[in-house]
Amino acid sequence: MGATFLFQARLCLYGLSQSSGIIHLGKMCVRTMCTKGIKPGERKSPPRKNDTTIRQTESFKVRQMPSFPTSVFAAGNAKRTTEMLKRKTALCLVCPDGLVAPDRPLSPTEWKKQLEEAPCSPERFDVHMMTLLFKTGAELDIAKSLLTFVALETGTMSYQLLLQYLTLCVKGGHDAEALDCYQIMRGAFPALETGASSLFIKAFSRTESWREALPILRDMKKVIAPSTRNYSDIISGALLHGAAAPAWQLYDEVLGEGLTPLPDTWRALFEGGARGERLLGVLGYMRDNQVYPERNLADAIKTWFHSLPGHHWRGEWTTVSPKGVCKGCGSELESIQLTPEEYTHLEARVMADIIQGKDVFQKTTAEELESFKAFVKRKPVFDVVVDGLNVANIVKGRQSEMLLAVVCELERQGLTSLVLGRKHMLRPSASWDRRNMGLIQKKAHCFFTENTSEDDPFLLYATLHSGNHCRFLSRDLMRDHKACLPDALTRRLFFKWQRGHQLVIHGTVAQGRRVGFQMISPYDTIVQSTGVSWHVPYDDSVDRSSYEVPQSWLCLTNKP
Ligand SMILES: [Zn+2]
Repeated sequence: MGATFLFQARLCLYGLSQSSGIIHLGKMCVRTMCTKGIKPGERKSPPRKNDTTIRQTESFKVRQMPSFPTSVFAAGNAKRTTEMLKRKTALCLVCPDGLVAPDRPLSPTEWKKQLEEAPCSPERFDVHMMTLLFKTGAELDIAKSLLTFVALETGTMSYQLLLQYLTLCVKGGHDAEALDCYQIMRGAFPALETGASSLFIKAFSRTESWREALPILRDMKKVIAPSTRNYSDIISGALLHGAAAPAWQLYDEVLGEGLTPLPDTWRALFEGGARGERLLGVLGYMRDNQVYPERNLADAIKTWFHSLPGHHWRGEWTTVSPKGVCKGCGSELESIQLTPEEYTHLEARVMADIIQGKDVFQKTTAEELESFKAFVKRKPVFDVVVDGLNVANIVKGRQSEMLLAVVCELERQGLTSLVLGRKHMLRPSASWDRRNMGLIQKKAHCFFTENTSEDDPFLLYATLHSGNHCRFLSRDLMRDHKACLPDALTRRLFFKWQRGHQLVIHGTVAQGRRVGFQMISPYDTIVQSTGVSWHVPYDDSVDRSSYEVPQSWLCLTNKP
């Protein structure tokens, strides 16, 4: 940005006192000045000697539609559904106070006229107008002309007005003005609240004075836990100015606080280069926490690998075949199936933290859960556990018919199924036809819980108890349950198990037609390495919801 002539209200801060968040100015001098705008440990995947043993459970196969891209876990599905629903709702945006932002700087006389004609209270005019200038992306000069007017007119400036002005400066990348504002506010107010502190941290971090952001962060910690954005701003600032040590120190602080670093932080670290072991540790963190970088972060990762001296890393953007083979290097990706050790670990944690967890008994009695366990013990091992109410509700008005169609399909495939339902489903009604419910109970094992019970724990118990081959049929995404698990590793295993075991009905089910199931991906979508290769699934769109997995991959191979 080149030099810009700015009409700036400069505050000469003598005779200044402060009360109730207002600066009283003993003297204000206004001058024209020229301001130069300132721009703002390697984790190897287990060896896959003979993956076929764990890749596909051989005891049964559920008939699946060749429809992987439309899997409930595929990126974009949730967003598309939400947008479709939004289109059905008319949105109405109303400007609350009727103010209109000028398109050029105004003289004090012109501002005076605006004030007199404003539809809002004269006392709030300055703050409302400054907020509007920010929201409409107005030029900085217009905001400055408003400040000048307020200073001349009243000799005071409220904290709120300066905060709005500061927001406009920082969001617009006017760091020099933001730092001027820091001097003013710091001198006028005994303390800054979080909003102003965050803005100053951002502004300082973009300049050579980035170290000034450190004491602001320190002061902030006395009142509130700083956000990952605050940390990210300073880490980026430090790395931009070649200070790797304080950057990594702050990064460790983020992890120590149990916070998830922002993608911007990781990008700054990879772009900052060096410290290879630490960066491989970042990739390990992404693996453990199912982090999928966005394209610009994946770009930084690729560039970093290319820059490693003495290696011959080559990266390419690619996809993976439905069978889990990388189309870039031809290697097989990790299986979605859990190893026996992983399965045992997950089963124990789910039983302890979800099934026996405190939350469950708020909606389910211990007696009911015990009677269910005894029921499961008496029955043969299940191949599929059906969330009966959830599945039936796919077709409103003929629920029992839908559930019967599913049960018939599972029976046709020779599978032993358990239908979990609620007791009210046994009361004949238009939705719950007596004959259909009778047939369901003949074709599948059934357990009906109290109407108020939460049935997910029953579903998880029966599925996990039946063994690694057993799958469950539900549209529920189990996010609350995943959150109950105590550590990142167990949560990762739960998500992996869920994606490898959850059946979802494919498309709509027309009356009298067979039910199809979406294909379950045979490979795990997670950052993975074999030592001579890295595969990083990344987001190439903004449409992915948190429980979905990306479809694009960065394939990195080290070939001499
Ligand atoms: Zn590859």
